[in-house]
Order: sequence, then structure tokens, then C-alpha cells
Amino acid sequence: MSRRPAAALATSGEVLRLIRTGEAVTRADIGRVTGLSRPAVSLRVTELLDRRLIVEDSEGPSTGGRPPTRLVFNAAGGVVLVASLGASRAQIAVCDLAGDEVAGTELAVDVEEGPGVVLPLVMRTWEELLGDRPVSLVRGVGLGVPATVEFAARRTESARIMASWTGVAIPPIIAERFPVPVFLDNDVNVIAIGEHRAVYAGEADDLLFVKVSTRIGSGVIAGGEILRGALGAAGEIGHIPVRDGGGVLCRCGNTDCLDSVASATAILRGLRARGYEVKTLADVVGLVRGGDAETMTVIRDAARMLGEVVASAVNILNPAVVVLGGDVAESFPPVVSGVREVVYRRSTALATRNLRIERSRLGPGAGITGCAHLVLDHILSPEAVDLSS
Ligand SMILES: [Zn+2]
Repeated sequence: MSRRPAAALATSGEVLRLIRTGEAVTRADIGRVTGLSRPAVSLRVTELLDRRLIVEDSEGPSTGGRPPTRLVFNAAGGVVLVASLGASRAQIAVCDLAGDEVAGTELAVDVEEGPGVVLPLVMRTWEELLGDRPVSLVRGVGLGVPATVEFAARRTESARIMASWTGVAIPPIIAERFPVPVFLDNDVNVIAIGEHRAVYAGEADDLLFVKVSTRIGSGVIAGGEILRGALGAAGEIGHIPVRDGGGVLCRCGNTDCLDSVASATAILRGLRARGYEVKTLADVVGLVRGGDAETMTVIRDAARMLGEVVASAVNILNPAVVVLGGDVAESFPPVVSGVREVVYRRSTALATRNLRIERSRLGPGAGITGCAHLVLDHILSPEAVDLSS
């Protein structure tokens, strides 16, 4: 086996990585770090400039004499189209190459209507959000869907819950209008990625994100990376059964799944069974503000059952932080405190020694941030940059 010098490995994609991370931002630095010759550095830099992935920034620090030109990653050199689809809402946006939103909107969608209805709506919305920007500026698409996603195959896999999305290969549908790489993941994974990148990256790289909304699901970040499992079904905590659930039949066919006893749907059903006329979570928020004792009991019961399942997950995963998101966790502080109480009581001492249990800081915007990073991580990786040159 022959050992190639490191210099031979420094491709344009690698040079872009050095510039993006700030490890080397002048031609001279790039030469020093990579061992590339001046002409070789120049060749790669020119290619990246031509592709608008970097720009020259002439405003270097003045040291008398001409300062070396700084090379800066060009976040404005393209856009990615992202959409985070929940069961009843969709966040849709155009983001720049740094993952920052340049235009976005939120729509009410009934995801059960299936990809044949939902995807054309999403694509029309992207076109509107793009406005005058040419489609040639679009470099990739990132999508979070409320279904299990077999990530490698970019295909949905969720026979039990959403028949209309099962086995759908989404990229070809999108490629008809936007012929760029398409990446998808399940809705909770993209939210977990977004929350981790925007709030915890580098500080807490083992994180469990639990979304408590119409449904309950979780996304696991392990060592800074999303954990997908063999077929993309990791983190499916909504269908773990709980004790004393009351024998509720879950849509998956089992009884007393966490999803069927502690989701927003379950809370509303529980209150209706007690004679309350509640249509949405906003009605429940009103009852809690008014100090209604029975409503508080329903919320606390949900938090207890959520806490039991999270406690088991904490034992298995030993996260540094558990983030609770989704409108149930965001609307009711007692859910967060209730989960915290159960987890600290039932998880092992070691797993909880430095454990933080917090409410989502990004809220609904986490999905968009996560989708943007999902696609940017791929299209800006050295391998992808070199392949597309
Ligand atoms: Zn179930």
C-alpha cells in the first residue's frame, strides 16, 4: 500500500471546508495547511470562485502594504429549499448556504392527504418564496416528513401509520421541478438536528429530543450525529407501551402506547371524556390558566407517562440533555417539570448526574434549521463538492 502525501488529498472540496471552518482563509494559509503548491492552490480557489461558493474579501486588516486577500464562504452563492412537514402544519422556507432563512412561511396542511396533494403544494410554495431568484440558484432540497424514512433509500417506510406516504420515493417527484439533490428524514429527526445545531452544538453532542404534539416521537443525537437505526426507525418512542394507561387502543394496533395516552390528541380526548368541550390545545391552555384542577390532573398524568418512557430512554442513551418540544411541551410548563421529576426518580444516578431536561428553545423553527443542515451537510461536504465540479 503506497502512502500518498497529504497534499495530494487536498481537493477543491477540502479547500472549501478549510475556508468554511476558518482553518485557512488566505491562499498562503491554504498552501501552508495543505502543502499544495501555489499554482495548485490558485487552481482550486479559482474553481470555487467561479462556482460562487467563495468570494474574495478585500477588507483585510491593514498592516501597511497590501494585505493578503481573505477568502470567505459565500452563503449568498445559492439557496436550498426546505420544508418541515408535521401532521397538520408545514414550515416551508428558502435558506441560504449558511442555513439562514431568506424567505419562509407556515401553512396548514393535512398530511394524511398524501404526497400527491402535499408535495405539489410545497413545491408551489417554494416557487413563490423564490420570487425573482432563478431556479439555477437552487442547490438542494431538504425535507422532514412525518413518516419513518429509510434514509439511504430516501424512501418513506411507515406502513402502520400513514398508508398514503408508505413506500413513496419522494426525490424523483421533486426532481421533476427542481433537478437537485433531495434529502429527507423524519420530522422529529430534522427538529432534533435543528435544535442541536442551533443551540447545543459543541456543548452537548448527546441529545434526546422528544416532540410532544399531535403525535409523540423522538430524535436521538449521538456524538453529534443523528442516530437513524437500521431502517430509520430509531427514536420511535411514541409506540412504547406505558403502565396504567387504561387500555387505550393505539392506531398502530397495540394498547397503551405513549402516543395514545400522552399526546395532544390523548389529552383532548381525556378532557372530552370528562365532559369538557375542548377543540384545540388553545382551549386546554385556557383551562390551565384558569387553574382548573381536573385539567391539571390530565396534564400531569400525561407528563408522568411521558416521564416513564423518557426515563428508560435516558438509561439506554445517557444523553447530556433531553429537549422537550412540540406544542404540548411548549404550552404547558408542568409537562417539562413533570417529566423531569419522573426521570430523576427513575433513571440511574449516573445517567442523571449531569442531565439537563429543557424545553425547546427554537420552537417550531427548529425543523427548518434542521432541514437546511440536513441538505447543506451533504451538498457542501468535500466529497459532494468534488463530485459536482
Ligand atoms: Zn402505538
